[in-house]
Amino acid sequence: MSQDKAEEEQHIKRMADLLRQGSTLTELACPACASPLFRLRSGDLWCAKCEKKVIVVREGEEPTKITSSIVLETFEATLLAKAQEIQNKMQHEENIEELQKLSAVFSGLLENLEKIRKIKRI
Ligand SMILES: [Zn+2]
Repeated sequence: MSQDKAEEEQHIKRMADLLRQGSTLTELACPACASPLFRLRSGDLWCAKCEKKVIVVREGEEPTKITSSIVLETFEATLLAKAQEIQNKMQHEENIEELQKLSAVFSGLLENLEKIRKIKRI
């Protein structure tokens, strides 16, 4: 596996982790690397690639909207694969509590997928 590919996978994994922690995907892009930015629960904007806060210093330096992003495509594919995985688990799960947990994760994934698709339409 090439260095770039490994780095990309780490990036995608960090994005998935952020969502799990309750951060939300925004339609803004990082001014440094053009990756999608996340809104942390604290309200800060966060770049999962640069691994740092994005601070708007001056007016006119706000992050721009995402135009097109390969990262977003990969992220979408990752979420779809996860959704599929959870769906398979749900089919074989008979414990109601486990089912409830799985369906909560599943609906969270769908929410994020919808968000990505909305961003891609911009
Ligand atoms: Zn960045």
